[in-house]
Amino acid sequence: MKSQQDLTYDLIVIGDGCAGFLLLHELSRYPAFARQKVLLLGEGKEQHRSWCFWDTGLEAPFQQMVRKSWKELSFKSDNIDIRQNLGTLNYYYIPGESFFRYFREDFIPQNPHVNYRSEKALEINGSDGDFKVITGSAVYKAKKVYNSAFLGQKPSIDIWQHFRGWFIETGEAVFDPGNAVLMDFSVSRSGESRFMYVLPLSEKEALVELTCFSPQPLEMAEYDIAIEDYISAQVGRKYKILEKEYGQIPMQQGVFQLEGTKGEINMGTLAGMAKASTGYAFQRIRHDSKLLAEAYFTGRKGKRTAEKGRFAFYDSLLLWIIRYHPKASKQIFTRLFQRRRMELILRFLDQKTNLWEEINIFARLPVSIFLKALYYRFSGKRIAEPEKEPKLLRELQNV
Ligand SMILES: Cc1cc2nc3c(=O)[nH]c(=O)nc-3n(C[C@H](O)[C@H](O)[C@H](O)COP(=O)(O)OP(=O)(O)OC[C@H]3O[C@@H](n4cnc5c(N)ncnc54)[C@H](O)[C@@H]3O)c2cc1C
Repeated sequence: MKSQQDLTYDLIVIGDGCAGFLLLHELSRYPAFARQKVLLLGEGKEQHRSWCFWDTGLEAPFQQMVRKSWKELSFKSDNIDIRQNLGTLNYYYIPGESFFRYFREDFIPQNPHVNYRSEKALEINGSDGDFKVITGSAVYKAKKVYNSAFLGQKPSIDIWQHFRGWFIETGEAVFDPGNAVLMDFSVSRSGESRFMYVLPLSEKEALVELTCFSPQPLEMAEYDIAIEDYISAQVGRKYKILEKEYGQIPMQQGVFQLEGTKGEINMGTLAGMAKASTGYAFQRIRHDSKLLAEAYFTGRKGKRTAEKGRFAFYDSLLLWIIRYHPKASKQIFTRLFQRRRMELILRFLDQKTNLWEEINIFARLPVSIFLKALYYRFSGKRIAEPEKEPKLLRELQNV
């Protein structure tokens, strides 16, 4: 039988995934963290996922988790192969195993005041300063609750980024480990918004992933056939599949909240930290965790927002185009990568460009489709089939 004292904490973190552990990491930078009684609730599930993101550099413990990084990325489309150095940036790959191994085997034992329980949270009750978190076996109390678990919430999502990846090993050296393919749109036919993503982990090992943007995921066999065809065309048939992964990320604005209904603090995907137009979330969650930790220990509340004003607006236009005119997305990305440096594009996607740089980026894109997106976005009208709008269809084909 647990005593009331065992059930009472300073703070409870729900979710033993990316956001839960990154928050604990940021909190642990403050010496006062060692005096906090913390409960981490998780499902204890092995997460088969990895994270890629870009940054100028990484400090411990993230640097140690990196399996591979690239100074050069490629963008490909029909008869186009753009290969560029990233300047001040590096593109990093952190496999889930190293992330979770560090947090479960190093961080948790080094922080005995964090009680990590494999228990599913069912409900959050109470209010700020006096929360109750109900699991199947106990009711825990805490002054603060940070939640990254969808506790029954099912936001309605118009469009998903869904992807299937194969980790493969070849008998011969066929990959260039110095160059990762961020997007290869040559696989996108008949109007689908889809591309291949290739991370060469060595000369003989790579992750080859098909990424699609659409309202519904595909049948698993459809991804697999496309990946198999792509690998055969690129490197032949002599390879072994080491592992497969699948994921879905919502590409949606306005449905995620920074706080829950009881005043608990939402984090991660639940708080809308996955960038709506790209699905990248790791760096945003890291940044958000810093703000949350600072607010917890100093009371200084930084503006924690996943979507910064004008960037949210750009995302909304891009999402509209991806949703209603997937044919245009291939041309838009192709034009963008043909005319702008990769480093600038990555900084733009990270929301770290200035207005002048953004004007320069948009000036190289087909203005008419963005004006159209603007009109439909604000008039609330939706075009289900561009075929019904011959003029727009012509514009899209001429992008
Ligand atoms: C396959 C995949 C690959 C991705 N790759 C990238 C990438 O390369 N780069 C990038 O920037 N972003 C990537 N993302 C997006 C984003 O970074 C991840 O989704 C990230 O894991 C989100 O963190 P999170 O903490 O919100 O969710 P999660 O990491 O999923 O963590 C939520 C945790 O809560 C636990 N949980 C769920 N319900 C309960 C409950 N009731 N009680 C207690 N615990 C519960 C789950 O077991 C899980 O451990 C990827 C997403 C997916 C799905």
